Amino acid sequence: QAKSEGKRQYRFFSPEMNGRARARLMLESNVRKAVSEKELRLYYQPQIYLDSGRLRGFEALMRWQQPQAGLIQPSLFIPILEETGLIHAIGPWLHESAAHQFRQWRSQHHETFVMSLNVSALQFGSAKLIDELQRVLELTGIDEPWLEIEVTESALIDNVEFAQQQLQQLRDLGVRIAIDDFGTGYSSLAYLRELPIDTVKIDRSFTASMFESNKDAVIVQTIVELGRRLQMEVVAEGVETEAQLQWLRELGCDIAQGYWFSRPQPPEEFPFPYGPFRLPASTATE
Ligand code: C2E
Ligand code: MG
Ligand code: MG
Ligand code: MG
Repeated sequence: QAKSEGKRQYRFFSPEMNGRARARLMLESNVRKAVSEKELRLYYQPQIYLDSGRLRGFEALMRWQQPQAGLIQPSLFIPILEETGLIHAIGPWLHESAAHQFRQWRSQHHETFVMSLNVSALQFGSAKLIDELQRVLELTGIDEPWLEIEVTESALIDNVEFAQQQLQQLRDLGVRIAIDDFGTGYSSLAYLRELPIDTVKIDRSFTASMFESNKDAVIVQTIVELGRRLQMEVVAEGVETEAQLQWLRELGCDIAQGYWFSRPQPPEEFPFPYGPFRLPASTATE
């Protein structure tokens, strides 16, 4: 008893405790309040077709606007939402919020585009996901395949049979399926054959180092080729420079997303209708 008291004190007052650990304690104690007081919100980042510069869609990315600490990134608080189970409470609300945003933007944009939602392994494993997304689709009442979910390889390979059923039900609802952070999980290429996948997102670690590492360049090129041959769309994540953009276009990558186009921003920052982007001239005549 005394010993565990002592430990707890050490945990709170250790001068060696780093900023991250302190932040975590603050987050843990405030996360419930964040949910109840609606401090969580969605930012959006555009995805652009590399042939036309037109808008392909937006990825919705969660942010926590904490009154004292400011804007907190999801890598810090999503694990806590998951450990506490609060992710199941916040998920439906966020999905609804993205759906409302899509509906509003769609009414201002002359052609359809996609809204991508991240679904963690825990959320993907939930039996309620299908009902929840169906509700969101009905709520919006837009009869186009506009909703996409992003899942990671690890969420799928935990239980391939379950994943197969879950994805097929989503497909039947008209939801598109993207594999996020492709190439970083313990991937088995067999799941690309067995699962109904529309889109592959090349992890941004490959995009970031493709000019420094010949291996990364080959991996990017191979994923683009694989996507083309399997008739899946390929999105390159983390495009920050014009050189990256140019090279991805030359490879025939379909879509890009990254700071070069826009950082994730609150919805009011986007002018609508959005795009088309003027892409660098030298490859415009392809
Ligand atoms: P992700 O889905 O792979 O999202 C892409 C991440 O890359 C985002 O980080 C985005 O801000 C960042 N990014 C985009 N373009 C660039 C770029 O050009 N350069 C660099 N350096 N970074 C770029 P973010 O917003 O911090 O999100 C991190 C992760 O948190 C996401 O990775 C996703 O796995 C998770 N996440 C975010 N929102 C949600 C959500 O609503 N639900 C769930 N379950 N997970 C979420
Ligand atoms: Mg994502
Ligand atoms: Mg990703
Ligand atoms: Mg990522």
